[in-house]
Amino acid sequence: MEVYLDRIESNCRRTVELCRPLGIEVTAVTKGFCAYPEIAERLVKGGVKSLADSRIDNLKKLKSLDVQKILLRIPMISELDDVISFADIVLISEVKTAEILGRKASQRGVTQRVLVMVDIGDLREGFWPDDIVPAFGQLLKIKGIEVVGLGTNLSCYGGVVPSQENLGVLASFAEQIEKRYGISLDIISGGNSSSMHLVYNEGMPDRINNLRIGEAILLGRETIFGIQRESYYNNTFVLKAEIVEVKEKPSIPIGEIGRDAFGCVPTFEDRGVRKRAIIAVGKQDIHPDTLIPYDKDIIILGGSSDHTILDISDCGEDYQIGDILAFDLTYGGMLGGMTSPYVEKVLIK
Ligand SMILES: *Cc1c(COP(=O)(O)O)cnc(C)c1O
Repeated sequence: MEVYLDRIESNCRRTVELCRPLGIEVTAVTKGFCAYPEIAERLVKGGVKSLADSRIDNLKKLKSLDVQKILLRIPMISELDDVISFADIVLISEVKTAEILGRKASQRGVTQRVLVMVDIGDLREGFWPDDIVPAFGQLLKIKGIEVVGLGTNLSCYGGVVPSQENLGVLASFAEQIEKRYGISLDIISGGNSSSMHLVYNEGMPDRINNLRIGEAILLGRETIFGIQRESYYNNTFVLKAEIVEVKEKPSIPIGEIGRDAFGCVPTFEDRGVRKRAIIAVGKQDIHPDTLIPYDKDIIILGGSSDHTILDISDCGEDYQIGDILAFDLTYGGMLGGMTSPYVEKVLIK
């Protein structure tokens, strides 16, 4: 896996510059690359003042970087001590968790900052709209925590598109809460990369002043409509894999078809005898569906734990064993490759 640091830094700077005029601060999300400090450092160089990750283990790797760190996954009760040690801010959606967190923080003589999540339709984490205002009443009474803001997450589980309307609902909850409890909320966090289209289309409600951005920076992609944005690099994480077999074989397996190695019954399209290549990478590292071949004439047929099978019949190039093929990756591919200890990471300036 080649990781192109200058390109990632440039994507980050571009995102910060697009958001700044709208009064939106960008929190760069590091979970897609397991928070390698050398990569995270480039995000900081690219202009962000805060980094976020879903896992404490990753926040630990960022300890030496002098920026605010946010824990994105609502925490397990069993990890609250580490939350206090390693997260400046943590996302919260349960009063009970906040109570235990507050008690632990108080015992240590510190105050833990929390960002409260509201679910405005995607059905992942967050207080339900009916509950958010009263829940704030309970949260504000808890000693040892400081509520710094309100946030939401969209398009992750339910695929709900962030819009002026649903983020407007988030903003109006912020206003209701401020009025009701006589407080002011510093951070109103309007989602992830999928909210960037509202930055482009000037549809972002005024009150939204933070976005938590991973994919749009790391892979330079507009994630909700798949629009290619100007001045973004997509070739940031590039997988290079070696060919270990090249042979002509029929397109349909011979014999009765049962379940494959992953318990699925495969289907095949009969295209006759085809020239195929096997590369030495598999589902244990990177799922075949997440590979985007540089050679557009390559057809990805599938794979097993350790092999990915390609149809190379239509390629102009006469590929041989030992040749290296390059692939861009989807978010899942980047995540899998960066997580796999079997994939060598090569950081390139
Ligand atoms: C992963 C995550 C993000 C970043 O998502 P991208 O689509 O990569 O921008 C933001 N917020 C939360 C809560 C997340 O879990």
